[in-house]
Order: sequence, then structure tokens, then C-alpha cells
Amino acid sequence: MQVLKFGGSSVANAENINKVVAIVKDKVAADKTAVVVSALGGITDVLLGCSALAAKGDESFKDKLLEVEQRHLQTVKELLPLTQQSSVLSLVKTLCNEIEDICNGIFLLKELSEHTKDRIVSYGELLSSQIIAARLKDAVGECEWIDSREVITTDSNFGSAAVDFGTTDKKVAAKFAASSSKLFILPGFISSNEAGEGTTLGRGGSDYTAAILAAALNAHTLEIWTDVSGMMTADPRLVANVKMIPRISYQEAMELSHFGAKVIYPPTIQPVLKKGIPTWIKNTFAPGDIGTVIEKDAAKDDTSIRGISSIGKITLLSLEGSGMIGIPGFSKRLFGALANAKINVILITQSSSEHSICVGIDDANAALAKKVVDEEFSYEIETNKVEPLGMERELAIVALVGDNMRSHPGISGKMFGTLGRNGVNVRAISQGSSERNISAVIGAKDVKKAINVLHEAFFETTYKEINLFVAGVGNVGGKLLAQLHKQQSYLQKYLRIKVKVAGIANSTKMLFNDNGGIDLANWKETLLKDGVHMTSAGFINTIIEKNVRNSVFADVTANADIAELYDRLLSKSISVVACNKIAASSSFEYFKSLKELANEFNAGFLYETNVGASLPVIGTLNDLIRSGDKVRKIEAVLSGTLNFVFNNYKGEGFSDVVMQAKKEGYTEPDPRLDLSGKDVMRKILILARECGSKIELDDITNHSFMPEECMQGSVDDFFASMVKHEAHFKKLYDEAASKGNILKFVAKYENGKASVGLQHIHPEHDLFHLYGKDNIVLFYTDRYVDQPLVIKGAGAGAEVTASGVFADIIRASRA
Ligand code: ADP
Ligand code: ASP
Ligand code: MG
Repeated sequence: MQVLKFGGSSVANAENINKVVAIVKDKVAADKTAVVVSALGGITDVLLGCSALAAKGDESFKDKLLEVEQRHLQTVKELLPLTQQSSVLSLVKTLCNEIEDICNGIFLLKELSEHTKDRIVSYGELLSSQIIAARLKDAVGECEWIDSREVITTDSNFGSAAVDFGTTDKKVAAKFAASSSKLFILPGFISSNEAGEGTTLGRGGSDYTAAILAAALNAHTLEIWTDVSGMMTADPRLVANVKMIPRISYQEAMELSHFGAKVIYPPTIQPVLKKGIPTWIKNTFAPGDIGTVIEKDAAKDDTSIRGISSIGKITLLSLEGSGMIGIPGFSKRLFGALANAKINVILITQSSSEHSICVGIDDANAALAKKVVDEEFSYEIETNKVEPLGMERELAIVALVGDNMRSHPGISGKMFGTLGRNGVNVRAISQGSSERNISAVIGAKDVKKAINVLHEAFFETTYKEINLFVAGVGNVGGKLLAQLHKQQSYLQKYLRIKVKVAGIANSTKMLFNDNGGIDLANWKETLLKDGVHMTSAGFINTIIEKNVRNSVFADVTANADIAELYDRLLSKSISVVACNKIAASSSFEYFKSLKELANEFNAGFLYETNVGASLPVIGTLNDLIRSGDKVRKIEAVLSGTLNFVFNNYKGEGFSDVVMQAKKEGYTEPDPRLDLSGKDVMRKILILARECGSKIELDDITNHSFMPEECMQGSVDDFFASMVKHEAHFKKLYDEAASKGNILKFVAKYENGKASVGLQHIHPEHDLFHLYGKDNIVLFYTDRYVDQPLVIKGAGAGAEVTASGVFADIIRASRA
């Protein structure tokens, strides 16, 4: 004997039922077969909806019932030859009339009990099983319909009745023994109590019906036919890259379904486990796929985790109080109160201090739980031994499941590390003593992200997906997107990172796409066409609201508003890569708070391009300091612009040289930021801070060489006024040249003090041979005493700056 169960989507319409019939026909050729079917997909919900409308006095239930009738009549017409239709059509009509009669009763009385609900929903499976029985009779030649209510006996817990296995097993065996048929069909989900009143086995209960029959009949296999090709490593509706689980143990399947894997109704496993009946999950729509087998000892492979599941809509109850310590019986009373109110407990944790017990329940029962528990402990609450029951709502549970967890230490460390790095706050943890599952209670809004990062950490060895948001897609930002586009396949192949650009913005528009990511081949057009109005706060808020895994924000603007919002991102564990220097050179207090937030929330805060574009200046300095070296002095030429200007200025046409620098993209949009030395001040400030100095911008001495007048007005005024001061610039040049020196704008840091200014550089000086727009940094340290550690190279330019930002993004992604 074999038992096959077909779910709601498998029997949703005539076309699907024909697929079912083909499968059954094939199976029945090999062995005696019992088929269990659900209602046509969605019908149970519609019937419940009708009864609720009727109870509210809303007559529209009649229209809905008409639709139910039409759908079944239509299915019969499409399924059966004309000659066989009439008896089934009239049966459908009779059953639908009965439903209407009951609904009319509910409508008149405005009363809807669990008992009546069970009566109403039972028609879903009664209808489907009768229709399919007729079709099977036609296709196979014989098919005996058995009323499950006659063979499955339960208690009177309407809505989710408990099976009396002693009675049920006998009745099932007797019924089947009395028949010589090769093929049977039974409605799933429905049963009856001792008094013969209809009950149901709980939503999704047709799986359970099939398992009860399989156990009672000692079937050699149970097959659950559904719309997926087996049990997956996570819910395929939440995770894109799920994998099929070929074999799984009964216990693992039970844990996964208990924690939300809807593919199988949790109680289903118990009867088949007892009898050791192998249970398959198969796909009606791809019958050739092997599927998953649930059996006693599932294969031991090297994966420590078999699957991940989640349940939404959880409320966490906490019973706390000093009066609970050392006194037995508190938990018994808590669980007793919940059980009496028929509230199912999904998760339990008790702190080792015995001072509190936390219980996770379905959110729908929250108000009732509060009432019954506070009543139970009313004396203790009055005498301050116990606090009124605490409730936290809008939560969810994620669970990792696997028999092999026992032999793999470090699973919980990896789980909570992964969640923590993604800013998922864990409210409670539970690990069953079997060590087969670790579950965590988290915010409902974080479920999708949590499941995805956990799946990535435990199952996706191929690559880690990064969600990158870029503000500023002008010169540098545009180059960054081009570099990312070009390197995509390299990153995936060699670094196992997939950088998905999930958001971009320029100064007027912003665009998001966290599904497939923004197509980097034509981001400009898409931003122009589909972009919405950009505000700094709007961009940052959207990134936070998206709440997607492995988020990295790259700031390629020079915008102060955006720099002010980094703290909000970091406190959500979103890494910040700043090309923008404003944050790192803002008040020491804000800078420090950003570093601390990055630390606390496991996020990256990286700004290598703030000094020397992509030259490894900050990284090298950090390495020196972390390895115990001490920086005594820094001497540096940090302005590519000023170096370009003084390398090209030979005593004539200073303003022309500055204009050329601007044209070639070596200056800030306002070149005065460079020429005033302000930009260099920011850079040496950042280096000083990396050395551990609590220095502010105002503490830096600036020996500016620019005449005050040039610094007033607009950028155009600035160029005009420079022409007037050509003599001043020539004098600076001549003074240096007369001694065989050249001019360099030098930044210095020594003994906690920093300064910037123009200097005469002699040909033998380390700073002399510095051409074009190059930068140079000399680190004099305890280890580099006689000869400094020198970092030198291009310190400006869109391409190199973009590559520096790129490198920081990779660093943040791999953390
Ligand atoms: P049926 O109507 O056949 O009983 P269900 O809708 O009850 O089908 O269960 C199948 C669905 O379970 C799948 O379509 C899938 O979306 C969902 N599901 C949730 N978790 C998992 C998982 N871990 N593996 C497979 N399917 C899952
Ligand atoms: N039809 C019932 C439900 O929708 C039982 C089942 O399909 O398993 O819950
Ligand atoms: Mg189901």
C-alpha cells in the first residue's frame, strides 16, 4: 500500500487535476494506492471568508458562494466527458446548497462557533475529493471514495482536533480490509469526534490525514505532492538561491516545519516516524524531479545545517519577578494558563537566573495570553512578586535546523555574528537540548534580510551579495560605476562577491532597484528617466527602510548634509565608504562618534580616498600603528592641485595654470578650497587623528600664500582677481628660484601639532622629485628613523580616486 497526497495547488483546476490523474494512474499500476486530496487551492480561505461575512450580517457571502459553486461546476465540465457530468454536477449543487443553508443560519443568528466553521470548511475537501473520484474512476476504471470523517476520530477541539490513534487505526484498517479496490480516494483535513460531529485537523491538515492513513495501513511510502520539487534549504518565496534538500531526517523535517516551513504540516511527521515510513515531497508540476525523502537517518554530508525557516507574527511574552527565584511551579502555572486557553507555545527560553521566562506565541493570541496569565498570577502581581506579563509584538522567529549541529561547534557564533553584522537585533534565543535547532526571536521587519544573510552564510558558497548605494555619480562616481561594471565577473569569480548597485543619486535625482540591481550598462538613462527627486535625507532614509543585507553606502559627493547622516547608517550596521572628506575632518566629537558606531554595529567606516586619492596612506598608517609603531613626524605634499600648479608655474600666468588644473579635473569644484590650503588642512587633520591626536581643524596653522582679495566673491571673481595679483605669485616664484629651490605646498605633523604652507624645496630634499599632480607622504616613525616610509604617486584624478573608493567598497564587503 502507498499513500499519495495532493495539495491545494495540485488540484486547483481541471488542468492540474489531469496532471494528478496521470501521476496516480502510473502509481496504481504498481501497487494499491490511497489518494488524499485538499480542497481546490484557496477554497478553504474563501469558505472561511463567507462564514465571517455571514456572521457580520453581510449578505455579500452569497456572491462569494456563487463563485465557489461556479468554480467547482466549471472544473467538472472541463474534467469529465459529457455523459458522466450530470451526477457529479448535481452532487456539487447539493453540497453547495448545504453550504448556503449553513451560512444563512449563521447570517440569521450572527453567531459563528469553531464547530460551525469546521462544518463549513469541510465542504472544500468533500467537493474536491468527489470530483476527482469521478475523474479517477473514468481514468483508472475503479476508485472507491471513503469519507475520512468515518475513519479518523478526534477529540472535540474544533479547528485543530487531536487524533485518537487507537480508534482511528482500527477503523482505517477495517475499512480498507473490507474493500478489494486497488484505488481509494479520501478528503484530507476532515475528521469527526466520538459523537460523529465534523472536526478538522488544523490548517494545512491534509498532509496529516495522509500520514495518519499511511501509518494505520503500514504503507511502504507516503508521497506529499505539492508545487515545489522538494523541501528547500529555505522558503523559496523569501530566498532566491534556495537549494533542494535530497534527504532529511524526520526530526529535522519536524523542526523545520514547526518553525514555519509550510511545505509540510508539522504534525504529519509523527505517525510516519513511528512506523519508519519513508515520506517523499514531490512536485505535481515536475513529476520527473526526484524530490526530497524524509527518513530515519538522513545522509550525513558536510553541511552542519540542513535548512533555515521562519515564522512571522510572533509575540514574545515575558514573565519576570524576584518572587520566581527558587520557587518551583511558576512555569507550570504559566504553561497551564496558556494551555487552558488553547494557546500554542512556539518557543521557550528561561534565563539561568530563573528570574524570567520568555515564551513565543502566535500574535493572534497575544491579548488572550495577557488576560489569562495576569489572572493566573494576580496575587503575585498584587504583592509585587511578579511583574504583569510583558509583551513585545511584531516579532518573528528564525531557526537553523540540522542534526549535525552537535558535531559542528561555532554554529551559533556564526549565526549571531552574521545577524549582528547586518544590524539584526536578537530579542531572545533558544536552543533545544537536542542541539538540532537554534532559534532566535527578531523584529518582523528584519525577517527577509535575516533569512537571506543566514542562507548566504550557511549555504551559498558561491558568492556574497552586496547591496551598494552610491551618492554622487558625477566625475568620480561615474568612473566608479564604470569600474564596478567592468569588474563584476572578476569579483564574483575570484573574490566571491557580487556587488549589486541597489541605489544611485546625483544632486537632483535618485534611483533604487534592490531586486536585480541597477543595470550599469545604462544607468545614466535610467536615472534620468526613472529617477525621483533627490534629497540627502530621502536617499539615506530609503537605504535604511530597504533594510537589505550586506548594505554599503558610498559617498562620492562633497556634500555636508550627507556627511551629517553617516551616523544613522552606521547605527543600522550599514557600512559607509566616504570619498567625501567632510565627516572625517568635521568636529572631533562627530568623527569619534562615527568610529565608535562603526565598531559597535560591526560596520565599516572607510575613507582611504580622503588623503592621496587611492594611494594607500591611511591604510598604511593604520597598519603601522596597529603593529605598535609610533609616528614621530609626517611631512607631505597632499594637494595634487597645488603640486600641479607649482610644477607648471614658471613665473608667468599663474591664473592660467590654475584654470588648466580646473579643466583637467584636478581641483575641487571651487578651486579656492585647494589654493587656500583648506583641503590640505583637512587631509593632515585626518592623518593626525589617525595617529591618535584629538585635533580640530582650527588647531592647524595655515601659512596661506593667497592674497586675501582673491578669496572673496564667486569662482569667476576669483579667476579675475588672480590676474591682478600676478606680481605676487611671480615674487614667490622668483624668491625660491633665485636659491635654486622650487615651491611646494607642504603639510606637517609633529609633536601633536599640524601646519600647512608653501615651502622652498631644495633639489636634495625628499619632496623635490614630485611631478605632475602627484602626492607624497613621508612617515618618520620609531621604526622608520633615518629614512622615512615613503608613499608617492598620483594623488588626484577621477579614475584613481574612483579606484580608491572601489577598494574601500571591497574592504567593507569582505569584512
Ligand atoms: P500544498 O497546497 O501542496 O499543501 P503548501 O502551500 O502548503 O502546498 O506548501 C508548499 C509551499 O511551501 C511552497 O510553494 C513553498 O512556497 C512553501 N515553503 C516554505 N518553506 C519551504 C521550504 N523550506 N521548502 C519548500 N517549500 C517551502
Ligand atoms: N484545505 C485545508 C487548508 O487550506 C487543508 C489543506 O489544504 O491541507 O488549510
Ligand atoms: Mg500544505
